Amino acid sequence: MKYKNVLGKDFKSKAEAKKHFKTLLYSIKKPDVPIYASPSKRHVKLTEQTLIKHSHMEYLYNNYLTTDKKTLDTVFKGGIPYSWWCKINTDGTRNIAFEVETRNQSIIPVTPDRIFTCFGTAKINKKLNEKKVARHLISGDRDWYLSQFLEGDKNPVKIMFYKYECDYCNKFFPYKEIEVDHVVLFNSIFKEWRDNVWKGDLNPNSSCRWFEDAEPSNDGKIHLSAANDSWCQFHSNIVQYQKLCESCHTKKTHG
Ligand SMILES: [Zn+2]
Repeated sequence: MKYKNVLGKDFKSKAEAKKHFKTLLYSIKKPDVPIYASPSKRHVKLTEQTLIKHSHMEYLYNNYLTTDKKTLDTVFKGGIPYSWWCKINTDGTRNIAFEVETRNQSIIPVTPDRIFTCFGTAKINKKLNEKKVARHLISGDRDWYLSQFLEGDKNPVKIMFYKYECDYCNKFFPYKEIEVDHVVLFNSIFKEWRDNVWKGDLNPNSSCRWFEDAEPSNDGKIHLSAANDSWCQFHSNIVQYQKLCESCHTKKTHG
């Protein structure tokens, strides 16, 4: 067996080891708390009682940590993680996450194959990751846009129980079946921002949820979110949305 003691088992291949890791991660019991509970209650801190144990993660860290200096600098910023978490995202997906003193952010998600060699080396497609972050940063627009069509009380809970008119076929569809579509393509807005506004480096964070700015801006200070702010502002100035049902959306996209 090539990969020994990966979360308590031995594996012949990285793919099998990764599958085992994912299975355990998704088998951890989701805390029964409301969505607005504090992060430390919504996510699960790994201990010796959880399916993935704290000591499992320490073993991975001590035995399978990547030696790639750039990755280690970006992810851990010279620190050693003191706690590991199963981070439960609102869309149901999960990440392994950690806390480290060198980063002033709690519960930081990371792709396991990026830092542990027993799971394989992640292929990084930088351009694709940049777009993924850009899309994530504007993902709140969907509910904001749809909320404008509610009558009277714009309580966010109501958004999901309302029916929306498709702007092409004029039939009404429930929340889950309506697409908020970019009239000016997302790709062209993003390209224009990259070509004319933000020409510098972009560093998608490890979970593709925000940009970590590479360099301090003109005033010499490091603005953690300068790229994020620039993108969101540029996008909101140009964007135009429309509501489409799934079939009209498919027709629009594929002709
Ligand atoms: Zn339609």
